[in-house]
Amino acid sequence: MRVITSCDEDIRAAAEAIKAGRLAAFPTETVYGLGGDAFNVSALARIFEAKRRPRFDPLIVHIADLSTLDMTAETGSLAPSLRAKLSLLCRNLWPGPLTLVLPKQPAVPGLATSGLPTVAVRFPSHPVAQKLIRYSTGAVAAPSANPFGYLSPTKASHVQEQLGERVDFIIDGGNAGIGVESTVLDLTEEPARILRPGGAPREAIEAIIGHVEMGSLPTHAVLRAASCAAPCAAPLPAPHSPGQLASHYAPNAPLFLHDAGAMLNLSFCPDEAYLFFDEETRGEWNMRNAVDADGRIFTLARGANTGTVDKTLEAAANLFDILHIIDKIKPSAIHAQKSPDAGLGAAINDRLTRAAAKRR
Ligand code: AMP
Ligand code: MG
Repeated sequence: MRVITSCDEDIRAAAEAIKAGRLAAFPTETVYGLGGDAFNVSALARIFEAKRRPRFDPLIVHIADLSTLDMTAETGSLAPSLRAKLSLLCRNLWPGPLTLVLPKQPAVPGLATSGLPTVAVRFPSHPVAQKLIRYSTGAVAAPSANPFGYLSPTKASHVQEQLGERVDFIIDGGNAGIGVESTVLDLTEEPARILRPGGAPREAIEAIIGHVEMGSLPTHAVLRAASCAAPCAAPLPAPHSPGQLASHYAPNAPLFLHDAGAMLNLSFCPDEAYLFFDEETRGEWNMRNAVDADGRIFTLARGANTGTVDKTLEAAANLFDILHIIDKIKPSAIHAQKSPDAGLGAAINDRLTRAAAKRR
């Protein structure tokens, strides 16, 4: 494994590796991705192997040019109303932190899509990601560059610590700006549905294409329904988004999620770590507990006098990095405050809820 810079020559070296079926981790505006040629089955198998990712969890295919969308997705088979929405979203939110689930082109290997007839496609805005995709094969399958189920990486050192020799190159492009993964939007049926909240807030999507449904049925619910002993009277629910497990994005320590009121009622315990959403709540809690500053107390949004939406932007950018730091101090438990739901708050709460589900 080599950690390389984001200069043109280094990106070209990583692109050559991808063309040869190897893997390269790279920065995007959401989190770091682990990239391999989307059309090369052995490269795809390497991605699943490196992450220890279950094969039922499909990958997102990254493109860097709208004209290559048709290499991966069969957009012509969409209903006219959905085609119109696709074109609006491409024009307004691409490149950016939005992944679209679309009918798949037969050329995309079933391994990339876990056998689904649909494919998830994203056009990232990060210039390094765009160059890597263009210099390599034009379509790069890339999940987040972390072992399956663990915290996502927002800097090159996170990838190095977590994947080490399982990746050929790591392009160091500094901190990923947004800090949470892309929003996954299913555009195959009306109404469009957000399967995973992420970097593109629901408000921004609805401002462009109108109402969208929220929520995917987690895989475990589908598996449980499928295994019920008696013949199920109800039809089996379809897994909207196979990788959306109840437990995901988890640090090693058990995490407990609280709203602001419950957080304020917690007493300080020196073995535990505390993750506040904002300085206001942290300040009040500090006063109640008579603890001033401590290496176990963290705040996601430190900006004073900023509005709620701006606070969620700052909080998302810090979320995984702070959770990585907390994990290193090995607390016996992590208490985290919920974010307000506006802006990127839905994505933050989604990640924290899944992190909390690990301990059950
Ligand atoms: P990650 O690669 O970790 O960002 O996760 C990508 C997620 O996108 C998967 O876990 C799925 O939930 C979702 N996804 C990818 N492809 C599809 C698809 N064809 N249909 C529905 N959801 C998908
Ligand atoms: Mg991931």
